[in-house]
Amino acid sequence: MTPRTGRCLCGAITYEFTGDPLWRAHCHCASCRKQTSSPMTSFFCVSLDNFVFTSERPAAFNSSPGVTRKFCRQCGSPIAYQSVARPDQIDIYACTLDDHKDFEPEYHVFWDERVPWLNIEDELEKKEDG
Ligand SMILES: [Zn+2]
Ligand SMILES: [Zn+2]
Repeated sequence: MTPRTGRCLCGAITYEFTGDPLWRAHCHCASCRKQTSSPMTSFFCVSLDNFVFTSERPAAFNSSPGVTRKFCRQCGSPIAYQSVARPDQIDIYACTLDDHKDFEPEYHVFWDERVPWLNIEDELEKKEDG
């Protein structure tokens, strides 16, 4: 299978992965909102066995206990989310993908934390928490 690829805005961080993501979701939590300065963000999760950074390593910030958010130290693009609760997985910010056809959202999470001015009328499941 041809690896799927992604990168940050400036291109200093690049990655590739194989296989199907474990899940794909839109997140409305307050932490993602602050970190991305956007009303919501979108992730897909892959096994670390199937994922590799093909560039230098991104910088890391501990946004809450056990949670690391990775970003490009040059351009600031958010790249990945990792939790000690799921040490063998990495969640990738979906808009870093080179080909947006590689992302197909399945549901929303933290729907109860969403901003009131973003109108979303899709048919996807809306989960109140993660
Ligand atoms: Zn960058
Ligand atoms: Zn979130």
